[in-house]
Amino acid sequence: MNKSKCPNPKCENGSFEAVSASIKGCRYEVALIQCTECGTVVGVLDTDIIGKAITTTAKIAVKQIKGEIPKNENQSSFSDEINMLFQ
Ligand SMILES: [Zn+2]
Repeated sequence: MNKSKCPNPKCENGSFEAVSASIKGCRYEVALIQCTECGTVVGVLDTDIIGKAITTTAKIAVKQIKGEIPKNENQSSFSDEINMLFQ
């Protein structure tokens, strides 16, 4: 398999990094995949929203298990967490 390389003809580096960024008009942070040498953006990840929803849901579940939150209260589902992030 050929190794990926930066599309910038003056660079040709083959190493990339994910950098979180706020983009105007976008309600949640995204991760830009960029060249580690020249910073040319080669892709965007929007999976952060799913990760935050899972983290939030897991934190609530742990608090419920520990008894810090009664199970009858604050019973948010995964879809509720997703909806909250889009509001
Ligand atoms: Zn580059």
